[in-house]
Amino acid sequence: MKATLSPSSLTCLPHRKVSSFQSPSLLLRTLRPSSASMTMTAARGNVAVTASATSVEKLRQGIAEFYNETSGLWEEIWGDHMHHGFYDPDSSVQLSDSGHREAQIRMIEESLRFAGVTGPFLNTLLLMIDEEEKKIKRVVDVGCGIGGSSRYLASKFGAECIGITLSPFQAKRANDLAAAQSLSHKVSFQVADALEQPFEDGRFDLVWSMESGEHMPDKAKFVNELVRVAAPGGKIIIVTWCHRNLSEGEEALQPWEQDLLNKICKTFYLPAWCSTSDYVKLLQSHSIQDIKCADWSENVAPFWPAVIQTALTWKGLVSLLRSGMKSIKGALTMPLMIKGYKKGIIKFGIITCQKPL
Ligand code: SAH
Repeated sequence: MKATLSPSSLTCLPHRKVSSFQSPSLLLRTLRPSSASMTMTAARGNVAVTASATSVEKLRQGIAEFYNETSGLWEEIWGDHMHHGFYDPDSSVQLSDSGHREAQIRMIEESLRFAGVTGPFLNTLLLMIDEEEKKIKRVVDVGCGIGGSSRYLASKFGAECIGITLSPFQAKRANDLAAAQSLSHKVSFQVADALEQPFEDGRFDLVWSMESGEHMPDKAKFVNELVRVAAPGGKIIIVTWCHRNLSEGEEALQPWEQDLLNKICKTFYLPAWCSTSDYVKLLQSHSIQDIKCADWSENVAPFWPAVIQTALTWKGLVSLLRSGMKSIKGALTMPLMIKGYKKGIIKFGIITCQKPL
């Protein structure tokens, strides 16, 4: 389906090794559809989707229904973070439930560190020395789930945070949890589309997208919106499922690789996938600085086996059956995620950058 890289291949590196890019270089290429009736085309830093309005609307509805139906189960078993945990590579330690929850928090912390987001102590210091504009005061959580990241970031930075999701169930649950934690004055959640965000330009010091990019049918529009709502000097963090970067001369993924992704797309309501390098290229088409990316696939490897293990407990199975077909299909698709990572088709990518002051 998706883009090869230009000769100066924009390869993302494993954790801690960082690649930075300045000048845009993108080949014209056609991206094959990974899910029914969606075709993506990339040209000069512009990944456009030629999907019919109906198929986009159907996808949006599917995503909303999927999360309306499955979020309760996920929260019951895994808590309020609906994202992968971050682990040391090759960690063979058998983790407890709380160990996995800590790994999910660690994912947030590692993402902030990778992006060079100033910690709360320095944040306060910057304010004291009148560097007001560098402080994280306003955060948008794009694709917020039930608001785990928003509440965490609001508490950490003392910032205001607005979360958006397509699922009315999630927005309500996220607001209820914020109220229960006395955070309603700081965080709020609403149903809104990441591709048409209801915010004015330049509003947020931190634009946070944790595992929502994979749902976006138009990656170029998604990136445009992230850049648009970022304040001057604001950081953008995208953590997302990608397919592998194509090698030089390669036009598309192998058919068997594409087949595997298509099966995952159906269950998890995903449109065509793209690579980490495609995100980099999209960002390079904007006036944006410090573009960095990394491949954290090794750091998330223990996650899906752990999710499967919890699904196979008595509590997991009963909850799964109660939750309905979408959750059951989701559980049956998890081994494909593991296969995708093991075969190197699926990559867990982080891409970060900063809007110039
Ligand atoms: N970031 C959260 C949840 C990740 S699950 C966490 O880490 O816990 C993916 C989320 O993306 C869901 O909340 C889903 O509603 C949201 N999402 C998917 N497509 C979206 C879109 N077009 N606009 C807004 N939210 C979207």
